[in-house]
Amino acid sequence: MMPRLDTHDVLNQSPPFEDVDLFASDRALVDAVTANGAGAESAALSQFGKRWGAAAMFEAARAANENTPRLRTFDTKGFRRDEVEFHPAYHGFMYESFRDGLHCSTWDAQGRRTAAPSEVARAARYYMVAQVENGHMCPITMTRAGVGALAVEPAVRDRLIGKIVSRTYDPRFIPWWEKDGITLGMGMTEKQGGTDVRANTTTATPGGEGYSITGHKWFMSAPMCDAFLVLAQAPGGLTCFLMPRFRPDGAVNGLRFQRLKDKLGNRSNASSEVEFVDAFAWRVGEEGRGVRTIIEMVQLTRVDCVISSAGMMRMALAQALHHARHRTVFQKKLADQPMMRTLIADMALEVEGTTALTMRLCRSFDLAGNDANEAARARLLTPAVKYWICKSAPPFIYEAMECLGGNGYVEETMLARLYREAPVNAIWEGSGNVMCLDVLRALSREGEAARAVLVDLVQACAGLPGAQEAAVFIGQTLMAADGEAKARAAVERLAMLAATAALAEGAPAAAEAFARTRLATPRGGTFGTADLGPSEVATLLDRALPA
Ligand SMILES: Cc1cc2nc3c(=O)[nH]c(=O)nc-3n(C[C@H](O)[C@H](O)[C@H](O)COP(=O)(O)OP(=O)(O)OC[C@H]3O[C@@H](n4cnc5c(N)ncnc54)[C@H](O)[C@@H]3O)c2cc1C
Repeated sequence: MMPRLDTHDVLNQSPPFEDVDLFASDRALVDAVTANGAGAESAALSQFGKRWGAAAMFEAARAANENTPRLRTFDTKGFRRDEVEFHPAYHGFMYESFRDGLHCSTWDAQGRRTAAPSEVARAARYYMVAQVENGHMCPITMTRAGVGALAVEPAVRDRLIGKIVSRTYDPRFIPWWEKDGITLGMGMTEKQGGTDVRANTTTATPGGEGYSITGHKWFMSAPMCDAFLVLAQAPGGLTCFLMPRFRPDGAVNGLRFQRLKDKLGNRSNASSEVEFVDAFAWRVGEEGRGVRTIIEMVQLTRVDCVISSAGMMRMALAQALHHARHRTVFQKKLADQPMMRTLIADMALEVEGTTALTMRLCRSFDLAGNDANEAARARLLTPAVKYWICKSAPPFIYEAMECLGGNGYVEETMLARLYREAPVNAIWEGSGNVMCLDVLRALSREGEAARAVLVDLVQACAGLPGAQEAAVFIGQTLMAADGEAKARAAVERLAMLAATAALAEGAPAAAEAFARTRLATPRGGTFGTADLGPSEVATLLDRALPA
């Protein structure tokens, strides 16, 4: 029943999309989770989906992003504070994600990988959280990924791991050893270079039980983390360190925050510019092996960028379809207008591909420890998938926004926030071109294993249109003398081939349409241009959201 205002009845507005089960209402997710070994978690995931799909969560996400963090550089008497204050809603999300172990569920109490399907089960949860609030996931992601880098320095890892795998979020600004649970961040990017971290000028001088670090970082997110993996130039070359917020003697460490970035999106989270003034840090890994060490963390953060972008695309799709089912234009629901049906079905098909591919990639991480093929798959496909999915999200969300017409463009619908949030996943942790270079690097270093991955993908796509031709194009383009110049086209195809293979394994109903409209005859530059039959459209819309 629409309310009556003084001058008119409010009619034909879609109800808010909230109080939904983000798991059970998402057929593509349910199928992908089952196909990748985590089907036994369905009941728990549905419970999680209901909690995160509650109206109160959407409202808290609005509050956390409208009330952005503030840097408190000094106290009232002029002493340094270097603290960042967050809105209570942000802390609320941190409590939630900690309680469900999103920062640690893939590690055991010693910091070793937990058994399959822990990656897929965590990814399914992360995918749902990303549909509601992304900013707080920055420290959650870095905490879970940081353990990957600490593996090379067991003494440091063993000291902290108990606090890292704790499921109690503790926001107090006190030394890490006094806290119930801690978070990790990362500082690599300097003013003169983020991609080219070998150009870092920050220095590390050995002394006492650690090193003294002096220099700066141009981007260091989630500055209230309890310790940061940072890169600095030690006598033996670029080296990875763990820098705690408090020195071992209990004094505040020498991290001096200059200001917070005024960001396009990701506004509930803080990203700082920081100087290190003789800051204490432990070495992690050998001197000169900094990139090699921190890449173990970076690989995992890249996977989270993928999950986050896929989750945001899913929410944009759900918002668009939900609205179209309730809004009448020219005496007909939008969801019954032929062109709108093709458009949203084409978008749903894209999300079928991105969801299946995301969960299949996480399956590779689940299996990599005992299966060399899966390890090679994770190595080759992580940059390719990050490239394609993170780049797909912004234009996808824009199209979903347009499905809501003017309502989509205003802040009360969450599409504006999703749209601003989406580009960061492509930019940080290796921007688009850098991901393509990483695919080329994997091919040149692990050529045979990488080629075997390509063969596996084609086999999984047996009988599907365009798969064989795509594999030939990928191989020929990336191996050619001018492979670097043309890598984007091939890497995009590689990700789409992998998406087709993932669909063939988990959602065969969508695999043929995906292969036909993405591999065999690439669709036009906008959504709604794929050649889909009426029954395909109906199936895709049904799968996207129960009517
Ligand atoms: C919101 C946000 C939060 C962030 N948080 C952190 C953080 O917590 N810690 C941290 O360390 N960093 C962080 N960053 C920084 C981020 O990781 C870097 O911005 C990113 O790695 C790119 O580095 P850069 O900005 O120096 O760009 P550059 O390295 O100058 O790259 C600019 C462009 O050139 C391209 N490019 C680079 N090399 C090549 C090549 N050889 N061929 C072709 N193209 C190339 C890149 O793809 C990119 O598009 C954050 C960034 C953002 C936006």
